[in-house]
Amino acid sequence: MEHKQTINFGAGPAKLPPSVLLQAQNELLNYSGTGISVLEMSHRSSDFNKIINKTESLLRELLNIPDNYKVLFLQGGGSGQFSSVPLNLIGLKEDRCADYLVTGTWSAKAAKEAEKYGKVNVVHPKLDSYTKIPDPSSWTLNPSASYVYYCSNETVHGVEYNFTPETNGVVLVSDMSSNFLSRPVDVSKFGLIFAGAQKNVGCAGVTVVIVREDLLGHALKECPIVLDYKVQAEMNSLYNTPPCFSIYIMSLVLEWIKNNGGSAAMEMLNKQKSSMIYDIINASNGFYVCPVDTACRSRMNVPFRVGKKEGNEALEKEFLDGASKRGMISLKGHRSVGGIRASLYNAVTLEDTKALLLPLLVIYVLT
Ligand code: PLP
Repeated sequence: MEHKQTINFGAGPAKLPPSVLLQAQNELLNYSGTGISVLEMSHRSSDFNKIINKTESLLRELLNIPDNYKVLFLQGGGSGQFSSVPLNLIGLKEDRCADYLVTGTWSAKAAKEAEKYGKVNVVHPKLDSYTKIPDPSSWTLNPSASYVYYCSNETVHGVEYNFTPETNGVVLVSDMSSNFLSRPVDVSKFGLIFAGAQKNVGCAGVTVVIVREDLLGHALKECPIVLDYKVQAEMNSLYNTPPCFSIYIMSLVLEWIKNNGGSAAMEMLNKQKSSMIYDIINASNGFYVCPVDTACRSRMNVPFRVGKKEGNEALEKEFLDGASKRGMISLKGHRSVGGIRASLYNAVTLEDTKALLLPLLVIYVLT
């Protein structure tokens, strides 16, 4: 069956490479000559063992993950990690305290969840609006914190770090759910990285956790066993039934990333795609408004208003209708902020992005 031509700019679950969907379709009823689907396969079988090991080795290769890090495939989504991170790491030091950089909805949620398990220090003053990353010279990091936490790309607000925070030796934790494998990253600078798969590396159901080995074994006693990184690491993420099909889809996406040049090539494309949209915004004399500071504008999620700073709802509807007529979907901004948001994850092509320029230009020229 031909793949339909709809262009999906959704923030997640998001577009998958068509070749991945086709391969999954071809293998759906009979995976690699086994006579069964991955959907039906025992997670204890040697065939599934090969799938999960291949997914891990592709990740290790693509991110150059050092040997002293474990790679886990867990359930519970990014939100599950908002609890797992403090449950496993806040007890690293006696004070049970953690530093949180709050730069958007997702880091704010993570900080709130962590408060259940210890003391949370918000590193910089509360922001009036999530449109910038305060200068690191204004942060007050606590040297006795168990870890420093940040979200490297705030999906709702389109705020992305273009640097890795310096923590003076304190363990660094990052939520990379919405920019994972969209650019190279030096894993050795982190104690832990996590990412839900459903934006850049697959479909919903599986969350990757990359954790340094010396951080295992410090979970609070009330940590549920399925959330305990040490238990999952010792069992190769098979303490209980893992999300087998989602892990399989991730292996196909990782192979696709590898065949398309890896994280450096993804970065180049993501720079090009996002610049196309930001260039139009910048050249529009205030007709299109992106509220985010230029230094931290996301390459993954481009939020903007149409017509004026607070948005002209009639024009925004006109834009969405124009895009929809041309087969483009999921461009509406998050319900908490309104406006428009174009998500440009790895599987969104240059051609997809060029197609979006047309409705942008049409309404600008006609208004
Ligand atoms: N972190 C980030 C940056 C996200 O964008 C999201 C969801 O969009 C989450 C965490 C929560 O992920 P989940 O819905 O898988 O719990």
